[in-house]
Amino acid sequence: MEIIHIAAECYPVAKAGGLGDVVGALPKYQAELGHVAKVVMPMYRTKFLYANDWELVHEGDQRIGPYAFHYSIIKEKTNKLGFDLYLIDINGLLDREKIYGYEDDTERFLAFQVAACDWMSKWQHSPDVIHCHDHHTGLIPFMVKYCFEFRQKLADVPTVLTVHNAQYQGWIGWDKYYLLPPFDSWKWGMLDWADSINPLASAVKCAWKVTTVSHSYLDELKEEANGLQDLFQYEVGKSSGILNGIDNQVWDPLTDTMIAKNYDKELVAKGKKKNKKELAGQFGLDPEKPLIAFIGRLVGEKAADLLPEAIAQSIYQHHGNANFLVLGSGDPNLEDKLDQMKHQFGGYYNSYIGYSEPLSHLIYAGSDFLLMPSRVEPCGLNQMYALRYGTVPMVRNVGGLRDTVTDMGDWQGVGIRFDQASVEDITYSVGRAIDLYNNKQELYNWMRSHMMTIDHSWDSSAQQYIDLYKSLK
Ligand code: ADP
Repeated sequence: MEIIHIAAECYPVAKAGGLGDVVGALPKYQAELGHVAKVVMPMYRTKFLYANDWELVHEGDQRIGPYAFHYSIIKEKTNKLGFDLYLIDINGLLDREKIYGYEDDTERFLAFQVAACDWMSKWQHSPDVIHCHDHHTGLIPFMVKYCFEFRQKLADVPTVLTVHNAQYQGWIGWDKYYLLPPFDSWKWGMLDWADSINPLASAVKCAWKVTTVSHSYLDELKEEANGLQDLFQYEVGKSSGILNGIDNQVWDPLTDTMIAKNYDKELVAKGKKKNKKELAGQFGLDPEKPLIAFIGRLVGEKAADLLPEAIAQSIYQHHGNANFLVLGSGDPNLEDKLDQMKHQFGGYYNSYIGYSEPLSHLIYAGSDFLLMPSRVEPCGLNQMYALRYGTVPMVRNVGGLRDTVTDMGDWQGVGIRFDQASVEDITYSVGRAIDLYNNKQELYNWMRSHMMTIDHSWDSSAQQYIDLYKSLK
């Protein structure tokens, strides 16, 4: 099959979160299964762009409303990522360093989607499936069906939407409808949700199939989806959950070049000790105490706002018997708070405010526990990386965390689970972590080596997507 993934992120080209990891890995595993997997994304000005060789494959002219633009598409020459990678360049819109966060993001991603459709509509052949990821590419299922320019060539190509995160929907006011390519105006309802153009809702309505990145997340979206719950209930017949995998080649403690000491399950105790020593040295922490880390976006979904109080309470209530380390960026007030706390709790707590891929690897390898108190967690990759690196995940019972982490109190449990995103539940779980670390050595050792053998690789999920595409033929 020929599968075209269209997305805003793809690791290692550009990544802001789990979406990048998934789009960087799934196509590789699909290619290994014998399919042609292509990724189409914007040509941001990233390190990866400058460090690799490219060839020009297409140029075209299009418009968003009255604004004409020229676009070009380049392809990476050496199949470096294990799949065909195409970048779309649009001067003035996509030629920036960051992925998101600009005032004209609406125009940027609209133009990107228009260029992608325009390019595909000029091919001699049609792909077997167009796979869109999240709201940045959510207008494509509508465009290929109802925009006059594209529908003749593309209307019969199956489209799939994967919802990685339904909190963000890409809302566009109806006053900007003229930016879309001319479309069958009888179909305006397929764009609309609650009186605005809602790209995510539009994709849920127009795509042939909808997937979410875990089973539990699909169930949860029917209850709460930032306003789209009725739509997810209505479209349940074409929706299913496929759990994300992790890229075992990138995330392998035995070969990871970003950590201080490589190890496998036999050497987990020794290996983690070395990495922890390195980490504790860098951050002024005590390597003898259990180290509990948080990695992620500092936003409400991740319950990052609870961290300052939960860490303070945990340090007081458990008499400083654990150390804490936070790596993250997001809400500026929270960034400030988590930064300032270093002075108050020096020796017990430290943080790195910002984004650092190498540090994240060292933290997965060097910490003993990884805390994820998320309010919403569509799949969550961090807990799977933690398991792979022998780090006990401490997770709230939600979404993909519920589907991937079992509690140490249950049969063959490998993590610590709690029910509420609250300071009390986190503090209590920290107590369980300290007890496990200090008093239950045998169980702790068994958990660490056992969790490293759990297979969360893409092999099975990549095949599930293929089966889904085949059902559309
Ligand atoms: P989400 O996509 O909601 O942010 P996921 O758990 O699906 O959450 O994916 C998060 C990914 O981003 C993981 O690979 C994690 O290691 C990485 N990550 C998040 N924040 C940072 C950061 N500040 N520095 C480095 N990596 C980060």
